[in-house]
Amino acid sequence: MAEFTFELNDDQQQVRDWLHGFAADVIRPAASEWDEREETPWPVIQEAAKVGIYSLDFYAQQYFDPTGLGIPMAMEELFWGDAGIALSIVGTGLAAVGVLANGTEEQIGTWIPQMYGDPDDVKLAAFCSSEPDAGSDVASMRTRAVYDEAKDEWVLDGTKTWATNGGIANVHVVVAVVDPELGSKGHASFIVPPDTPGLTQGQKFRKHGIRASHTAEVVLEDVRVPGACLLGGKEKLDERLARARERARSAGERSGKQGPGGAKNAAMATFEASRPAVGAMAVGTARAAYEVALDYAGTRSQFGRPIIDNQGIAFQLADMRTRIDAARLLVWRASWMATTGKPFTSAEGSMSKLFASETAKSVTAQAVQILGGNGFTREYPVERMHRDAAIYTIFEGTSEIQRLVIARTLSGVPIR
Ligand SMILES: Cc1cc2nc3c(=O)[nH]c(=O)nc-3n(C[C@H](O)[C@H](O)[C@H](O)COP(=O)(O)OP(=O)(O)OC[C@H]3O[C@@H](n4cnc5c(N)ncnc54)[C@H](O)[C@@H]3O)c2cc1C
Repeated sequence: MAEFTFELNDDQQQVRDWLHGFAADVIRPAASEWDEREETPWPVIQEAAKVGIYSLDFYAQQYFDPTGLGIPMAMEELFWGDAGIALSIVGTGLAAVGVLANGTEEQIGTWIPQMYGDPDDVKLAAFCSSEPDAGSDVASMRTRAVYDEAKDEWVLDGTKTWATNGGIANVHVVVAVVDPELGSKGHASFIVPPDTPGLTQGQKFRKHGIRASHTAEVVLEDVRVPGACLLGGKEKLDERLARARERARSAGERSGKQGPGGAKNAAMATFEASRPAVGAMAVGTARAAYEVALDYAGTRSQFGRPIIDNQGIAFQLADMRTRIDAARLLVWRASWMATTGKPFTSAEGSMSKLFASETAKSVTAQAVQILGGNGFTREYPVERMHRDAAIYTIFEGTSEIQRLVIARTLSGVPIR
């Protein structure tokens, strides 16, 4: 009978402690500065590259951890350090997962190293799916990819928005429409290689939180990429489109338009794999704020005793810690299921992201409250953590979309 344990093995504990050390010594001390500057923290990314944290090797090792806990453990520790800086360090990973999920071995070998660069010359990558009129409703995407058979090139046109590292990345992974009749089933992912003419950065967003992470529009005007930049290759795409057309014909569903609960298109495959990881980021931010609040409550005195002596404060801390542990367990379960090939029959990936992100929002709000006036100032990190936590219920599918996915999966009803 297989052994059952919640204990991390020796290797995992070592990696966790090493990451925690980097988060405490390098990321956390830089957090306030880069939040104020609202710029990509290149020197911190370079430090991470030098010690091997910002690298394909590191992510591959965590990604292929047979227990599934490698990635969530890494995310929790880095985001415990600071969410904005950590997203700058791991943002490339979202694009890399897009290539790992949809690309051929040759494409993986060619493009992922160019996404990371090397410690003396670090590079970034961006995953570009969202558009001004296609956020939650991915099927409304308009960016077109048209095949120029004579030149064996794809021509991309459209505007992407909210792209993490958009415009400053070396490699962009762009999701585009190849067959508008098929809705989200007519999407495909493309690599846009470094310095390709026609790709420009649009507006850079000034944000409420995770301000050390660059978020911008990406404009694509007559962007020509070689045929080899279609992830998965043309043959596979043609087969997939033919199957989708056949299904649409036989079901009489020519629109093929799929809501957020539908899964197997290029962007959704990437999101499915990454949702528990986003849950783990939220756990990291929540844990960081909880620790500050616990420490503060033990040292701040009012009415002649530490404020933690009041049940009103102590019970809040008890609830915060309970929710954080519950969130982590949901994240670990989803990651373990994904790695061991267990199907998400109850949308467990979405459950983990929903609960962990809502936990981060509520726990950081409670931490601000426990620190009183100090919690409301930039002298203490919980103010920043509270702003940062707001992103988790928005990106990689909002909380409403997670609920929609869970409810549809459980009921089989196409709830709107
Ligand atoms: C900082 C940041 C970084 C990001 N990074 C990336 C990135 O790297 N790549 C990328 O492609 N995208 C990225 N995104 C985009 C992100 O995934 C989208 O913002 C998100 O999917 C929501 O889309 P939207 O903003 O258009 O909101 P909308 O879809 O317009 O939603 C607005 C509101 O309506 C609700 N809503 C919508 N539809 C329904 C429904 N059917 N039922 C109930 N409620 C509904 C939503 O939950 C939300 O509350 C990023 C966003 C941010 C803010």
